[in-house]
Amino acid sequence: MPSTAGSRILEGYRAPFDATAVKRVRELGGVVVGKTNMDEFGMGSTTEASAFQVTANPWDESRVPGGSSGGSAAAVSARQFVVSLGSDTGGSVRQPASFCGVVGLKPTYGRVSRFGLMAYASSLDAIGCFGSSVADTGILLHAIAGHDRFDATSSKQDVPNFQSHFHSVSSLESKPLKGLRVGLICETIDDGIDAGVISAIRAAALHFEELGCSVNEVSLPSFSLGLPAYYILAVSESSSNLSRYDGIRYGNQVYADELDSLYGGSRAKGFGSEVKMRILMGTYSLSAGYYDAYYKRAQQVRTIIRNSFKEALNQNDILISPAAPSAAYKIGEKKNSPLAMYAGDIMTVNVNLAGLPALVLPCGFVEGGHAGLPVGLQMIGAAFNEGELLRVGHIFEQTLENCRFVPPIVADDIAY
Ligand code: GLN
Repeated sequence: MPSTAGSRILEGYRAPFDATAVKRVRELGGVVVGKTNMDEFGMGSTTEASAFQVTANPWDESRVPGGSSGGSAAAVSARQFVVSLGSDTGGSVRQPASFCGVVGLKPTYGRVSRFGLMAYASSLDAIGCFGSSVADTGILLHAIAGHDRFDATSSKQDVPNFQSHFHSVSSLESKPLKGLRVGLICETIDDGIDAGVISAIRAAALHFEELGCSVNEVSLPSFSLGLPAYYILAVSESSSNLSRYDGIRYGNQVYADELDSLYGGSRAKGFGSEVKMRILMGTYSLSAGYYDAYYKRAQQVRTIIRNSFKEALNQNDILISPAAPSAAYKIGEKKNSPLAMYAGDIMTVNVNLAGLPALVLPCGFVEGGHAGLPVGLQMIGAAFNEGELLRVGHIFEQTLENCRFVPPIVADDIAY
């Protein structure tokens, strides 16, 4: 199939093999209906940075679907596919799931083979799953998870049968989540977060209490350091990973008399401006004079973040937060202000830095669009504990009343 990662530099490129995740889906009888749009090489939060198209949000076509895996989220939200795959380096499955009112799961680092996934930032990248329910999402994860001899970073941990975690629950009275300790990360319901999002998350916290959980606010003091550390590490790794697109090995080539101008010309024409900016920033932070000040420092911050999650997860079974500081915003609203766009990743990047699994599911609405806009709840668990996230998410979803996360453009007879 053609494989472009949303980039001109790969226009016309056809992948010679299936990624392991896709191969496993096909082996189980899954039908690959098509490919979806994304921000170029996964760099963006709106899908506006695709070289080919801008994807609209099915809840309101004047708004972004989120990104970078915005096409996969929009397609499930519009019920074009039952489930879809995306990649999550800093939130690119969870944030579009939140904007489009679908379920999005970023597995533990190493849970799913990345053989065949185009690399953005290798210490953070994970293949994730979208579905219109927690159960569908879990079934897809089960299909693709597990060790793969073609990816040395894929884990040998056993993959439990997630389906055995799905219990049907009819009422709150039975307190189906009795004893579960839920930590609400207080830095994520603070100043600068949309008031409607905060009240939806607070309502979700109350719902957990009705289900029998104890909910306490927990502080992760290093939380705000996640964004700067992530953007230094992600751009540094991307500057190295994207050096393979030189106009010779893959994709489009600009003919030139000299090798340097062939490389330069192909990249100048093939890469979009966001990708070029990130390669420049990454090359800068890895350069001899600045490595200690930026890259090394960001690695130290990463260790602090990882430890603070570990501590919080010793005292809580799961942590919760919004999946994004706001609901879906207008197409074009943040396109020319990269820093405002990067700031929108605050809820998700820490989880990638810590390598943990996180499940996002729609939990409520804020005003906007024709019928309100969905808000996503993020649940973060201990490493390799996707089963628990799916179990809790499934119970939460079944008992959430008066919420139907089907966009108005989807006809009732095809909404399942
Ligand atoms: N929006 C973030 C970025 O641009 C995350 C992207 C991702 O997870 N691929 O880097």
